[in-house]
Amino acid sequence: MTNKLYQTQQYLKQCTAVVTAAEGNIVTLDRTIFAPEAGGQASDIGTIQGVPMVHCIDRDGEILHELAEPLKGVKPGDEVELELDWMVRLDHMQNHCGEHILSGILFTEHGIENKGFHLGSEISTLDAAIKNMTEEMVRELEWKANQVVFQGIPVRVEMLETREDAEKYPLRKALKVDEDISVVIIDGVDCVACCCPHPSDTSQVGLIKIIKAEHYKGMTRVYFKCGMRALKDYQLKAEIVTALNKKYSSEDETLLENMKIQEKKVGALRSELYTLKQRFAVLEAEELIAGAEGAVVHEFEDRNLDELRFLGKKLTEMTDLPVILSSTSCKTVLLIHSGKSSLKCGQVVKEFAVGFGGKGGGSDTLAQALFTDDEVMRNFVKIALHSV
Ligand SMILES: [Zn+2]
Repeated sequence: MTNKLYQTQQYLKQCTAVVTAAEGNIVTLDRTIFAPEAGGQASDIGTIQGVPMVHCIDRDGEILHELAEPLKGVKPGDEVELELDWMVRLDHMQNHCGEHILSGILFTEHGIENKGFHLGSEISTLDAAIKNMTEEMVRELEWKANQVVFQGIPVRVEMLETREDAEKYPLRKALKVDEDISVVIIDGVDCVACCCPHPSDTSQVGLIKIIKAEHYKGMTRVYFKCGMRALKDYQLKAEIVTALNKKYSSEDETLLENMKIQEKKVGALRSELYTLKQRFAVLEAEELIAGAEGAVVHEFEDRNLDELRFLGKKLTEMTDLPVILSSTSCKTVLLIHSGKSSLKCGQVVKEFAVGFGGKGGGSDTLAQALFTDDEVMRNFVKIALHSV
């Protein structure tokens, strides 16, 4: 069994330990400051004798340390130096303890159980056993959690030998082990068995920010960030708001209103643009129809497929002649008619474009063919015209 110093000396950043076994990249020690992966939370990282310790797990009470490479010349009985990556540990402790506070409040005030926790590298989640957590509940939970932080309530850890001893405490969750149980207590907030390292009081958790809460498998998944992560999140959001304020000539308080006003203006411009496009298409269609003999045919230089379709549709509203529009910029030919022509658009594309340097398809009244070469595209237009 490894002596788990992180449980009682969570601020210990360096120490020495004696190697009990070393096989390949895996090392076991008589004692360790590295907390293993546990309950949805990644392990600590750091170095052992200067070699990066990238991951560790608890196997039947023995902590297995995985190193980036084997320790050279080190054998069982040798003493090695351990150094903890403190910023990673602090980040874990802040977000882990934040979860205790959030889950504790949900349980003590609403009887809502936490059914799952995941401490991700960017954001953490907890699954609260309530189908629809209202926005008001989320705001209230966040507010109360931060009040717990501001009060700086001690986080106590009681090491208990038996299940019987542990069950004397008002535990939030049923026990999963029968002996050597550590119970974490935040008076008035939470009481649960947990073997991860915790800060000595709640103030060290820093800001608790709920990012969002959404429906998840009949529960509510709460996404949150604590401590340094919450600060970084605030810095990012402040940058975004500052940029938006500049764009919309606003202050924080008027930003949303100004964005709505701008959206309305854009909506009005879009509708005006659509009307103008319709009018222009009518004028353009009249001109093309006036010059048409048996079919409306025209090659553009700068139209995309949407523009060809828009004009093609307008033409079919104004003439029953088949329409063949092409554009060298998108190298596409559009065949379209009102349904009164015998031209089978899709069939023409299939027979004379696909396999002849083009691809595409469509129905009897609307089809398109895409080419990679202007001349091949023009040849297809000539063939299509013969088919009319
Ligand atoms: Zn814990």
